[in-house]
Amino acid sequence: MIDHEQSRLYALRQLNLLDTPPSESFDRITRMASQFFRLPIAAVSLTDANRQWFKSRVGVDHTEIPRFGACCGEVCDSNDTLVVNDLLASPRYSSSHLAKTGIRFYAGAPLVTRDGYTLGAMCVLGTEPREASEQELAVLRDLAAMVMAQVELRHALGRTDPLTGLPNRSQFAEDLEDMARDNPDSSRVALLTELVDVSKLGSLRRVMGPNYLDSLARAAAQQLSAILKPGTHLYHLSPWQYVHVVEVEDGFDPIRESLRVRAELADLNTQAISSVMIDPVVGVAPFAMGSVTPEDVLRMAHSACQDARESESGAGLYSAALDASYQRRFALLNDFSAALGSPDQLRLVYQPRVIVPEGHCRGAEALLRWHHPSLGEVSPAEFIPLLENSPLARPLTEWVVQAAIKQAEAWRDRGIDLCISVNVSAANLEEEDFAARILSRMALAGLPYSAIELELTESALISNSNAARGQLDALVEAGIEIAIDDFGTGYSSLFYLQQIPAHVVKIDRSFVSHLDTDARGRVLVKSMISMAHDLGYRVVGEGVETHAAYSILAEMGCDEVQGYLLAKPLEIDVFENWLQQSPWGQRQREDQTALPRGPSSAKRLPQPAATGRAAVGRH
Ligand code: C2E
Ligand code: CA
Ligand code: CA
Repeated sequence: MIDHEQSRLYALRQLNLLDTPPSESFDRITRMASQFFRLPIAAVSLTDANRQWFKSRVGVDHTEIPRFGACCGEVCDSNDTLVVNDLLASPRYSSSHLAKTGIRFYAGAPLVTRDGYTLGAMCVLGTEPREASEQELAVLRDLAAMVMAQVELRHALGRTDPLTGLPNRSQFAEDLEDMARDNPDSSRVALLTELVDVSKLGSLRRVMGPNYLDSLARAAAQQLSAILKPGTHLYHLSPWQYVHVVEVEDGFDPIRESLRVRAELADLNTQAISSVMIDPVVGVAPFAMGSVTPEDVLRMAHSACQDARESESGAGLYSAALDASYQRRFALLNDFSAALGSPDQLRLVYQPRVIVPEGHCRGAEALLRWHHPSLGEVSPAEFIPLLENSPLARPLTEWVVQAAIKQAEAWRDRGIDLCISVNVSAANLEEEDFAARILSRMALAGLPYSAIELELTESALISNSNAARGQLDALVEAGIEIAIDDFGTGYSSLFYLQQIPAHVVKIDRSFVSHLDTDARGRVLVKSMISMAHDLGYRVVGEGVETHAAYSILAEMGCDEVQGYLLAKPLEIDVFENWLQQSPWGQRQREDQTALPRGPSSAKRLPQPAATGRAAVGRH
């Protein structure tokens, strides 16, 4: 009995009717009931756990009464029509809430779902004792049936996609929960079919117009329904995404099945349903019933689809290991805001830049480090690309600029004049006040504009946006130098390079690391250096790890180098020691009196071909 009541309440709540606003389609039926019986009060009354709630009502102001002692409650419990000719004469109702409010007559017919659950009653009430004829009660039952038709119609509308007529995501979730109740712990496989690459949807829509997707969806839904095993439920998630669930039986091979589905769908391309080719992939997510939510199943299947796109294999199998990497990426993205506000998660380390061939330290690149509270040290190579395209790009660079300026100021106060390079993302240049903020911060700190250099990649600098160009020009005009980072990895032609208002070219370390063994690479680097010089840029070689690379770059006329040979990126105190103690650590100008020099300061300057004398700082 309790179980039945719980299932009944579950069925009622699934309909999402409770506490919804009045609606004309129900009120029309309630008015008919009141008029037909010539009674002042009529209601569609739903039996919730402890109350009767009126979806529709005539002649009463309140929207609910307690379930206990309500005639509608009895209709619900008995699942039968109830007539009380005179409440005051009824032992059960004479002192009920209804009787106390002046009600004498009650007639109610049960509202029953197809599954046999009674949701409540269609009822009429009067303030005088009365009788009800069989014919009247038949009409009341008809009206109750009309209410239920309305309920089911609405429910169906919320569960079916109007475009394809297929059950939708809500229905998928409900069915999966039902199946889990009936077959807990059984194994299933969800296959999610995606018709086009989601990342191209925007441009497809623009080119083809919105109707393109409609006709595509109809054709695909039809084709899919036709090729799936009879009895399989196919669900419409979006016009380009469909999912179905298969029971795992002996010999079932999800990859073969998904490739078959993909191939059958790709056949639509030959039927010319539209002038755009579809590019279907199928993502496969195995799961144990009841152990994951329907949302999890869809998330896993989506992730498998993405793998299928990336690997261009047409079908992807969800693997927990792969998904863990997505989860990690989400965690990083989500946790970075907290890092920005935390005193001890983010810090800058500094990697020296040294002038060739003297080997004097001219400056340092500030590189961000994140100590995540649970994941430990996270490499910027992992988190920066994630954040660069997120709204966090602005506060990230803001944090770095602020920290670098503070450090530059602290060093200058102690007579250590270094140029600090700060990495800036393309998105930062789109910030309206980017240049103004940096310039005013520097002025406030009393720093010359030569104290900070900004590193941007070629692609960031080549942006066609006027806004970005405006920010760059403002910075350059003030005297801030711009470096083109990772040079050689982009696609820029000489023509573009000429137009970038930059001062320094940093040759990417991928060109530098094999300099000593790769003759073709040497030719390339040599021509990059001479080209950059011709255009008036200074050249920095990145990723110098060996003396051989250092010598080759020096010979080619490279102006500065940076790399593990000189030092890894160093914590502030280690960097300061390095400045004092490494032969590379002498600075360009003879202002070293401000910095106490250790005994090693008298060491001879490093020679390009020197063997292993260079200090490599702690990481
Ligand atoms: P990047 O700007 O090209 O920075 C140089 C990277 O090369 C650093 O990696 C550095 O540790 C590494 N490196 C330097 N010398 C050598 C060498 O001799 N050999 C090898 N194998 N590697 C060397 P890191 O610190 O892991 O930074 C990775 C990337 O993350 C940076 O590449 C930069 O693109 C980005 N990044 C770091 N900090 C920031 C930041 O504050 N803001 C922004 N927007 N990006 C940052
Ligand atoms: Ca850089
Ligand atoms: Ca670089």
